[in-house]
Amino acid sequence: MKIFEEIESEVQSYARSFPRIFNKAQGEFLYDEEGNQYLDFLAGAGTLNYGHNNPIFKEKMLDYIQRDGITHGLDLHTQAKGEFLETFNEKILKPRGLNYVVQFTGPTGTNAVEAALKLARNVTGRENIIAFTNGFHGVSLGALAATGNSHHRGASGVSLNGVSRMPYDGYLGEGIDTTAFLDKVLCDSSSGIDKPAAVIVETVQGEGGINAASFEWLVNLQEVCKKHDVLLIVDDIQAGCGRTGTYFSFEDAGIYPDMVTVSKSLSGYGLPFAVVLFKPELDQWKPGEHNGTFRGNNLAFVTATAAIDHYWSDDGFTKEIKRKGHYISERLADIVNNFGEGNFTTRGLGMFQGIHCVNGDLAGKITRKAFQQGLIIETSGADDQVIKFFCPLVISDENLKKGIDIVEQAIKEVCAKESSIPEEISYF
Ligand SMILES: *Cc1c(COP(=O)(O)O)cnc(C)c1O
Repeated sequence: MKIFEEIESEVQSYARSFPRIFNKAQGEFLYDEEGNQYLDFLAGAGTLNYGHNNPIFKEKMLDYIQRDGITHGLDLHTQAKGEFLETFNEKILKPRGLNYVVQFTGPTGTNAVEAALKLARNVTGRENIIAFTNGFHGVSLGALAATGNSHHRGASGVSLNGVSRMPYDGYLGEGIDTTAFLDKVLCDSSSGIDKPAAVIVETVQGEGGINAASFEWLVNLQEVCKKHDVLLIVDDIQAGCGRTGTYFSFEDAGIYPDMVTVSKSLSGYGLPFAVVLFKPELDQWKPGEHNGTFRGNNLAFVTATAAIDHYWSDDGFTKEIKRKGHYISERLADIVNNFGEGNFTTRGLGMFQGIHCVNGDLAGKITRKAFQQGLIIETSGADDQVIKFFCPLVISDENLKKGIDIVEQAIKEVCAKESSIPEEISYF
């Protein structure tokens, strides 16, 4: 359709990798206008953990709409919001021993990050924030300052202040605990790193290339934060809501962050919804000091409540994610063993895994070939060198196998081609 070239901005990105017109979706499948079916291993960049148009949530939402339930409510107390808070508290927070206040922010991830950083700075009276190499926290200015990617940072047009960068786990090579460096600079009054309000971290870096921090590193990070009286913010926007196997990605590490940002799959239905969670003593906002028109997406409250009720009332879903995650680990390890030749390594945790390719060019060839076979799969990382297996968590075993088979075949073909004849065609 020419209209996209005619008036949609050049800023579009995913649309370039998958140039079709999509008009239907269900579970792990997307369909284009011509009725072609695609297996979705992109899953709204982590927004569709429960699949497209999950029928359980859809029914609840349709009922709610049908009876003229509130759709937009600013921050008014509504029944839907009350039920969400009740369910979130009873089924997510309390069983995990987490005592958090919930702040509804504007509906996107970056809004939650902005609120978290602002609150951390206000509470501590300090400006500096520690963020990590390859971290991604959103693209509004405050969050962008904490984001590492130069492509995104370069678009800001103003200087990005108030953040110091530290090496993430593994950045300096195996066996080097980079939290020791953080501790050292915070101990040293002439290190040049101003005492920070907070440290913001992803337990598994999504956009940064599926780098999973070890549990030990996370525990050490928490210790360094405590020692220096610095707040620990876990940005769980991508890794949370079950992606790594548990509701919050930090549960198995056994840490208790001071603040947590949650968005992407929070609504369960792909509806915009974001929150910041923080320990009660940090709730020092004055009424209305931070606001936003779209803090009351009540349809999202309805579907988020249904998602928690259905999937998180017991530990069955966690077991299922871990089982599938184990399968993905084994398959990816086999692929790397069979076709590796130094070109590929695996990375990640739970259903948050990827294959790291020697360069972005190779990864791009593989994902384009996979798309020709009906698989939507993207890359991430500084050089787009990591093939990101990001299917809905609810995918059937059969389709999970099918998606991985397609990538395996694509790798086989691309590698065979690389070692024989030069690349002569571009796929689009
Ligand atoms: C996607 C993402 C964000 C930003 O969320 P938006 O809704 O795109 O603003 C922030 N942090 C992490 C870890 C993310 O994956």
